[in-house]
Amino acid sequence: MMNATNAMTMREKNRRMILDLIRKYEFSRAELAKETSLTKAAISIIVDDLMKNGVVKEYRSEEKTIGRRPLCLKLNPDFMYAVGLNITRSHVKIGIVDISGRVVCERSLEVSPKKEALKQIVKTIGELVEESGVEAEKIYGIGVTAPGPVDTQNTTILNPTNFDEWHYENIGLRLKNVLDKKVYLENVAGGRALSEKYFGLAKDWTDYLVFVVSDGIGSGIMNSGKLLRHASELGHTSIAYNGIPCECGNLGCIEKYASMPAILQGTPYQSWQEVVDAEDDALIEKEAEYLSCVLINAVNILGFESVILHGAANYKPQKLMDAIAKRLKNNTITGESPKLYSGSAFSEVVSAAATVFDNYFNKF
Ligand SMILES: [Zn+2]
Repeated sequence: MMNATNAMTMREKNRRMILDLIRKYEFSRAELAKETSLTKAAISIIVDDLMKNGVVKEYRSEEKTIGRRPLCLKLNPDFMYAVGLNITRSHVKIGIVDISGRVVCERSLEVSPKKEALKQIVKTIGELVEESGVEAEKIYGIGVTAPGPVDTQNTTILNPTNFDEWHYENIGLRLKNVLDKKVYLENVAGGRALSEKYFGLAKDWTDYLVFVVSDGIGSGIMNSGKLLRHASELGHTSIAYNGIPCECGNLGCIEKYASMPAILQGTPYQSWQEVVDAEDDALIEKEAEYLSCVLINAVNILGFESVILHGAANYKPQKLMDAIAKRLKNNTITGESPKLYSGSAFSEVVSAAATVFDNYFNKF
């Protein structure tokens, strides 16, 4: 027999599962019953309770069907918010985001020495919460994204290259008392992967890779709908066993070849945008050659279906993506290549907030 705690956990688990389905598909009660294999009566108890608390509302669908249009359910985006904080090498961005991914307000700060930056972050979170007018109890947590590697379990930034001042900073501990909310930490690319799942291209996808190519190279890998942790450092996989030494200790890390500073070195260009606008196909081809090298390894190991490109390389990326796709098709062991997509242009604070919402929906 189930004990009381288990029954309560089960009820909460069902409640969040239903909320997640309503969030994604605006299902009707009947559709929820079909999708979850819960009884219609059980669905009604949960849905009635959600409606009573203003979390969801019912509306008549506009879709033309034979007979009466069905009553569908819609999430009230005002029911939950998160604070999103993205820390980069040059600045931090902080914002308040609702559960539909809308940014209520956000602010950018230049990063001064870490001690000063932390003070500024704490102060700004408080100011933004006030400015947003969001009630504190509706904020589920604070989501932080930072360059990887990070220890999500202990909310600690580990030892990202060129980020020395923040090494081994337990950001969770620092921010724990700001709003008395739980703090979640993810590497930037992991946050991007989650934002695509909750608000972007990947609503229905379970296996995909987000590739962030900017000053560094990061990756967020989703496997069976969950973010793979401790497997998100494709930027430090080698494409040349005797290659350029990297700060991480390895030789030939792709970051040393295909990150923006690396690929632009010795060229007349200041940015990737200039390369694309100048239609320098040889350089684009070269970048595709580097990037597909690690992607082929990743596909051969994990076999995901889609790759979403983010970062500076995601500027008018069709040529680059076509060149990568061609190489993937020819060189993966199965000959099946994942589809490439240009990533959604969300603010970084949306990705940071997505780590909070993911913890809510994937808690059990
Ligand atoms: Zn490295």
